Amino acid sequence: MKIYPWQQSVWQRLTSQKQRLSHALLLHGRAGMGKLDFAMHLSQSLLCASPKDGHACDVCPQCIWFKEGAHPDFKCIKPEEADTAEDAPKKKATKKTQISVEQIRQLIQLLSLTNHSTTAMRVVLIHPAEVMNTASANALLKVLEEPPNNTIFILVAHQIHRLLPTIISRCQAIAMPIPQRKVAIDWLESQQVGDPNGVLDYAGGAPLIALQNSGDFTAQSMVYQHLAKGGKLDTAACAGLLLEHGMEAALTLLQKWMFDLQLSTHALPSHYHMKLAKSLQALAKSVNLSALLDFQRELVQAKVTANHPLSQELQLEAILLNYKKVFKH
Ligand SMILES: [Zn+2]
Repeated sequence: MKIYPWQQSVWQRLTSQKQRLSHALLLHGRAGMGKLDFAMHLSQSLLCASPKDGHACDVCPQCIWFKEGAHPDFKCIKPEEADTAEDAPKKKATKKTQISVEQIRQLIQLLSLTNHSTTAMRVVLIHPAEVMNTASANALLKVLEEPPNNTIFILVAHQIHRLLPTIISRCQAIAMPIPQRKVAIDWLESQQVGDPNGVLDYAGGAPLIALQNSGDFTAQSMVYQHLAKGGKLDTAACAGLLLEHGMEAALTLLQKWMFDLQLSTHALPSHYHMKLAKSLQALAKSVNLSALLDFQRELVQAKVTANHPLSQELQLEAILLNYKKVFKH
């Protein structure tokens, strides 16, 4: 685990004050910037028995426990079942999206026990903190108001405005940096990502999302060749390609494409597909704007039922038939 290049200055600032670190940190900022990795790295370095230049040593028993996910003084709280959703896409529809009060109560119980190791430090990571409901947030607030000894809470939030103001005020808030474009591109290149500019645009400038999507991008470039045909689209061929990464990803791709198509109709630059600006501009000439808005609404609706396992191919083909109607003949 490493600190990303764009996080170096925050890292140095935090670790230089390690001895007087606040008992609760709130790392906040846009998704896909590596906040969770940063929080994990910080947690490990706080628990490490012999950190080097502020970084975890990676070899002491504390670090080994941590990397095995078995450190007794590290507790990571995230929405229940979010883990299994990744391994079993079918379960996605039932994915829990909240941190329950029961999880926080169990945490409080755990913290009331003495800590296990000689570092005499415990770390609690909560991610993403904004998915605590009112009950769980209030339960956590009580702990933050009377924090147990030698315990550091690290809250990670994509949307800080969704947190209770009382929770924010109990934490040292740290705005996590967004990399400059060149830094992000250099980093993607170092990760052997082909077409780093294209994937970074598609990810809305978020380097970790770009890296995650980079494998899909070759297939996607074929999808765009289809979509660029507008009213002459081959729906069956396009649906097949789109579904390679699942219904939700297909709908997201269509939403981003329509977003940029709409920008193009107003002669505005693309947000996600800068390299395809010419195709978009050509396509925009034949767009019926009200049909485009209807189609965008349809995509939002379709996302609600995106994980329904039945007849995704038929559903997507029906959606693509309506895509063709966006264009005047
Ligand atoms: Zn260590």
